[in-house]
Amino acid sequence: MALDEAKLADVLLGLAQHLSSGAELAVRLTGLCRAATEVTGCCRSRIFLLAGECYELRYTFGEMPDAPMREHKVPAQDRLIAEAVRTRDCVVAKPQDSRLFDAPAASIGVQSLAVAPLLDEGQQALGVLTAEYPDTPDAFSAVTARLLLGMAKLAGMAVLAERQHQQRIWSARQEQAQVDTALAKVARELIPSLNTPSLVERLCQLTIEVLSCDCSTTMLWDAEGKAYVLAACYGATAEEREAAQGVKLSRDSMGAFFDQLEREGLVQVSAPLLGPDPAARLAAGYGVSMSIHVALQRGDEMIGFQSAGYRGRRESFTAPQVRIARGVGQLASLALEAARLAEELERARKLSSEFVATMSHELRTPLNIVLGYIDLLLEHSFGALTPEQGDTLGRMEKSARELLGLINDILDLSRLEAGQMTLQVLEMQVQDLIHEIDVETRPLQEKPGFSLVWHVSPSLPPLRTDPLKLKVVLKNLVVNALKFTEQGSVLVDVYRRDDGLEFCIADTGIGIAPEAVPIIFEPFFQVDGSKKRRQGGVGLGLYIVRRLLDMLGGVISVDSELGRGSIFRVWVPNRTQPGTDVGCRRGFDA
Ligand code: ADP
Repeated sequence: MALDEAKLADVLLGLAQHLSSGAELAVRLTGLCRAATEVTGCCRSRIFLLAGECYELRYTFGEMPDAPMREHKVPAQDRLIAEAVRTRDCVVAKPQDSRLFDAPAASIGVQSLAVAPLLDEGQQALGVLTAEYPDTPDAFSAVTARLLLGMAKLAGMAVLAERQHQQRIWSARQEQAQVDTALAKVARELIPSLNTPSLVERLCQLTIEVLSCDCSTTMLWDAEGKAYVLAACYGATAEEREAAQGVKLSRDSMGAFFDQLEREGLVQVSAPLLGPDPAARLAAGYGVSMSIHVALQRGDEMIGFQSAGYRGRRESFTAPQVRIARGVGQLASLALEAARLAEELERARKLSSEFVATMSHELRTPLNIVLGYIDLLLEHSFGALTPEQGDTLGRMEKSARELLGLINDILDLSRLEAGQMTLQVLEMQVQDLIHEIDVETRPLQEKPGFSLVWHVSPSLPPLRTDPLKLKVVLKNLVVNALKFTEQGSVLVDVYRRDDGLEFCIADTGIGIAPEAVPIIFEPFFQVDGSKKRRQGGVGLGLYIVRRLLDMLGGVISVDSELGRGSIFRVWVPNRTQPGTDVGCRRGFDA
């Protein structure tokens, strides 16, 4: 086909546009092969790319009638290719050459072949473009060869751009993975920590680890001193740490630094640039040559900043390091806020427990006096009573005892919550305990058609446990059984099991619905919480039972059927350690 210089320039311009489209590289380079066949009139055009020791076939257009694609790989030292690469020119093999692509010409069915190199910026081979004829001798004019060379150049540029693009994507992914891994580690370790001093210690260690730097500090805002003060540091000597402890960084002393930190969230500082201000002295104290600082925020307020530094190295922190530092700042801000809330909550919880404990204690004292007078009145110590007076006083006593039970429950709960209970292990006779509970629950047992039966194994050994706590546990369960059983019986079995005793409290009362069983041990839970409910209580008894059993090392289980009754089983171990303390302060009085 007639191909002149003007046409050549047009073709190359059109191809350059095609190659810069956003299509896949395969589409663009197959399109280039197609253009090569159309413009040069060859039957087939192919692009081989260098892969190690070989050129591998990647893109192709056109068919050779008698030579279906055979060679997919051509060795790099192939005579024609080597020459095209060496001369950086389009090499044309004549039909009389007996070997093409280092194979006997006849065997690959090609009569005439042109090979042009695809080169990178350093003129190194990336691949080759071929144009092939099955039968046309002398098919390639000088212009055609120049066109193929131009096409190969364009193809080389497209391959190179694609590789650079892939490289950039790969690097970006690598960087992202590096940042993600570092921040996942920081998040995993920081977020669960709810104690500020240990949180900031760990924060400094992690900052050094994930930024591969030499030292790190956390400075937090001290509202009283109106300055940022040291909360933690890592990678410093004892003297450096001591010196840093006295540093107070006020907003005025380092206005520009804090303004930038607040505006941008991150500041990098080459230590000598800081001048004679306190931060420079701080940095110099650490022998810090290059440092990075990120803001620690609570909403819009900068509550502190996390710093990391190199000792000796002067190069800036890299882009991934900067991203990691920003992430550390954000995670640390979240973790610090969570820790602050947890600490506030704990303070509030302690205060409220203390208040409830004091109040319950104060309520109990006059109530006990009232009960004492009622008892004296009922015993006729102040003279005889009319039947109505006796009846009324009896009801007053019942209500006052219920009230005392409630106050005791609340007092126990507040002491448990405040961690104020200690375990006081003594050797006890279970029979004595059972007798006490039996006597104390008599008023509840007095119902028509009802009986409470104790089944205590005669050979029970003495038990080493905390008797007061065990009494609270058993009394709660017996009182519940009596409360929730109108007719029938409550049977309490006591026997030896493993190295301890088992108490089985079975009633024929209202029973508990299966869906309620797992939650009856939660505080303030009542199956029937309505005002119509006849039985008293606030839903604390079983929660206290569970907590006390945890202290005693015991276990509780329940089987219940609605309308038929419940069986509560409690096992308590014989404690071998006398008087084991459970890390609490005050004794427990039931
Ligand atoms: P309360 O002071 O309300 O009795 P508890 O914590 O002792 O609180 O018990 C929680 C709830 O479990 C009770 O309100 C009741 O609904 C249910 N319950 C406990 N023991 C029994 C029982 N023996 N029979 C039926 N229901 C019971």
